[in-house]
Parts: sequence; structure tokens; C-alpha cells
Amino acid sequence: MSTDTPVRVEVHPNREAVVEFDPDLTFECVDSCTWCCHHGVLLYDREFFELGDRANLDDATTRFRGEDFVRREEKDHEHAAEDGRACHFLREDGLCELHAEHDWKPARCSVYPLSVRREGGEIRVDVRDSAWEHCEGMNVSERKVIDNLDAFLPEYLWELSNPDSEREL
Ligand code: SF4
Ligand code: SF4
Repeated sequence: MSTDTPVRVEVHPNREAVVEFDPDLTFECVDSCTWCCHHGVLLYDREFFELGDRANLDDATTRFRGEDFVRREEKDHEHAAEDGRACHFLREDGLCELHAEHDWKPARCSVYPLSVRREGGEIRVDVRDSAWEHCEGMNVSERKVIDNLDAFLPEYLWELSNPDSEREL
């Protein structure tokens, strides 16, 4: 859902994003849903090393098209996808091991359900198509996304030459 006239928001000091989604969009992650944790997750370069301080990279990651991703693997719990697989860090209680035990997670997990792309030197933010199809947290609360963009978009996204979120495992 894109607006005709994109809005510019200062997300962090001197870090502006062009918002292409409806400014009235609200979002709140739903506890019973783990859909976005059924996938492998792209790690930006510095995150690969940050993850290495918290987990065994050989066990947790895989390389695909020259980039590092959190591995998607077989799970023996009910929170996995229909094919029985999910992100390496999705625990049997439905929580993210990284978030629960290390208060840390990859930027891609914070960004969801939004998409990010760099265009003309600007960071542009929209809603991922998959979110409209699968994310249960869309427009179910009073929490406006546009007022909380700093929680979705880590500041270092602005430092990356390619922060685009469309790369998938
Ligand atoms: S790293 Fe954590 S939040 Fe991200 S997809 Fe995996 S389980 Fe979910
Ligand atoms: S798909 Fe949406 S509601 Fe479900 S876990 Fe991910 S962010 Fe939360």
C-alpha cells in the first residue's frame, strides 16, 4: 500500500527515510504468530561478526550468492513452517533465542514487516508484500509505524551501500 506523496521522516539524527506506506499504518507483533521466523535471514556484514559473539557461526549461518544468512533448518516443534523448517534461532516456545537470551537480533528481523531499499542515495521504506499476506500484526493496534521508525530501522542501515531487504535465502 503506497501513498501518492511520500513522507520524509527523520528516523535518527540527520538520518531521513522516505516513507512510501500509508502513514496511518499500525503494527504490533502477535505472540502466537512466528511466520517471519520461518525463513533464513540476511546478515549485513557487521552483523555476521556481532552474531559470532553470540552463537556458533558454523552451526547458525550459511552462505548464498556471496552473502551470509542465518540458516533455515528442520525443527521438531509446532512453531515451524508447514514443511517443518524455520530459522535456526526459533525456539520451541516460539521465541527468538537471540532476542530472548542476548537482547539482539539481525536488522532484517527488526525491519519486518517493512521493506528497505536505497534509491537515489535515499533510504525508502515500504511494507513487504509478504506482510500483507502473512503478518498478523498489521493494523491491529494503536501503534503507528511512522511514529516508531527508529525501532524498525537501525541507524547503521544508512551506512550500508546496499541495505535492500529484498535479498532472500
Ligand atoms: S533471528 Fe530470531 S527474530 Fe530473526 S528470524 Fe530468526 S528467530 Fe526470528
Ligand atoms: S509475521 Fe508479523 S505478527 Fe508474525 S511474527 Fe512476524 S512480525 Fe510478528
